[in-house]
Amino acid sequence: MDRLNEIMLQYVLKRRLFDISDYSSIETMSKIILDSRVPNFRDKRKNRFGLTNSYKLAYEFFYSLDPEYASYFVERSNSGDIYLKYFKGNTENAYSFIGKDGRKKIYFPYGLDICDCFILVHEMFHDMNLDLENSTLTRHLFTEYISFFGEYLFKDFIDNKYGIDFSISSKYTYNGCYMKAVSVHFQLTLVKKFLDKGYLDDYDIARIINQYNPLYREMLLSLYRQIYTNGDLCLEYDYRYVIAVLLSCHTRDLMKEKRYDVDLFKFLNENINYLYPEEFYSMLDLDVVDECNLDLSRASYDRLRKSYCKYMR
Ligand SMILES: [Zn+2]
Repeated sequence: MDRLNEIMLQYVLKRRLFDISDYSSIETMSKIILDSRVPNFRDKRKNRFGLTNSYKLAYEFFYSLDPEYASYFVERSNSGDIYLKYFKGNTENAYSFIGKDGRKKIYFPYGLDICDCFILVHEMFHDMNLDLENSTLTRHLFTEYISFFGEYLFKDFIDNKYGIDFSISSKYTYNGCYMKAVSVHFQLTLVKKFLDKGYLDDYDIARIINQYNPLYREMLLSLYRQIYTNGDLCLEYDYRYVIAVLLSCHTRDLMKEKRYDVDLFKFLNENINYLYPEEFYSMLDLDVVDECNLDLSRASYDRLRKSYCKYMR
């Protein structure tokens, strides 16, 4: 238990976190997801889908957005910076990162099924908006949104062009994001309790874990072990997925109302490192009422909730 308390102390000191209201926005957002229903998900992907097909579909999609995006995709695919690894059942996560040689890289475990092309598109957007010289808070907060919404546009593209039903990809998304929302809420509760009492004991942990749906107990225990091993929380990392899924649902609605389009999406992707977070929100028609902790207006949260509940299946 001493180790956990040490980790918690370092966490709050490093972030000068003495007031949990700094996290009120992310708390509200994770509650929006937790208060809606638990995604009903069964893994049914069985059909094999070759890697060449995945690359082909991704290329066609990028070309439809912008021929320059397609060139970038080809250049990156030929660069040797994408590490491919076959993984049965795709149990490892893909990620984009900066290599020891200072170059942008993508780790891409593929499973030879339809999820591969979505992962490829997702990681390619991260790669595109990762600026080695200029790493900003805005990019940290919203790069997952760009990748999520990029996946949504991709799904739409192949639905329209080939009439293939890829709706399973969004089921993965909602399921994964629900888990992230549980994880975020759990870690926020740990931080709150720690700030409150000055320490945590076994009883606190057990009680906090029991607050959540039993379906997610195993996941929380493994998150708890991970915090122990890594010596740090992963709150800053996880809450980006909560923001991403809410903004994606919201911008689907904006698109229907003709208040958002592919050009705006591209603008955000290309300028993510040059915009302030509040500008980014405002371009999505959301009002920041507190620039310090990026809290949104009640009306904005209501719109996020409405769109999320509508699309989450
Ligand atoms: Zn991502």
